[in-house]
Amino acid sequence: MTIDGNKIIHAVMEGSRIREAKGIIPLFGVYLSIFSTQYYNRLSFDFEIKMGKSRTAESESLLIQAAQECGYATFHGIRNSWEWEKIVQPMIENKEDQIEGFIAVAVAFGWGDLEVKKLVPDEKLVIRVGDSYEASGYLDRYDPAGSGKCYMLRGVAGAFMDLIYGEDYPDGCFAFTAEEPFCRAKGDVYCEFIARKSSG
Ligand SMILES: [Zn+2]
Repeated sequence: MTIDGNKIIHAVMEGSRIREAKGIIPLFGVYLSIFSTQYYNRLSFDFEIKMGKSRTAESESLLIQAAQECGYATFHGIRNSWEWEKIVQPMIENKEDQIEGFIAVAVAFGWGDLEVKKLVPDEKLVIRVGDSYEASGYLDRYDPAGSGKCYMLRGVAGAFMDLIYGEDYPDGCFAFTAEEPFCRAKGDVYCEFIARKSSG
C-alpha cells in the first residue's frame, strides 16, 4: 500500500477549519458538521430500546442500513471531490488502495482508529477499531451487550466494499454486508468488522 494516511488526515484537519455560518464544513465534496457522539449514540440506542425487544433484529438492521447508505453516498462524494483528486488520487496505484484512502478519511472524521486487517479483492474486508465511540458510549450507559453495537461502523464497512466492488453508483449499495464478530461493547478487546458479498 502506498497510501500516506497522515497526509490525508492532515488535509482534513486543515480543511475542517473552514465553517459556514451554520457550522457546516464544506470539505471533500460533501457537507460535514461537528456532532456529539454521545448524542448520536443516544439516538441510536434509544431507538433500539423504543423499538422493543421483539424487534431487535429489525432495529439493528435499520440502523446498519442507514449507516451503509450514508457511507455509500458520502464516500462516493468524497472520491469525486477535487480534494480527493489532488491529495489522495496521486497515491492510488490500484483499486484496493482506495479502501486505505477511505479509511484515512474516516479516521480524520473522528470515527475511530480504523485499520484494515485484511482485504481480499471483491470478497472480504476486515477492519479493526480499538476505540469505537459507539462501543464506548454503549458501555457508559448500559451493561455489557450480548452482540456488537457499532452499527455505524458496521454499515460503513459494507459501504466501502460496495463503492469499490459493487455496481456503479448508485446501484451498488448493499452488494456487501458486514458483521461485527468482536465488539468492545460485549467485552472484546477491540471491534472487528467483516464485510462480505451479500447473499441472495
Ligand atoms: Zn463495536
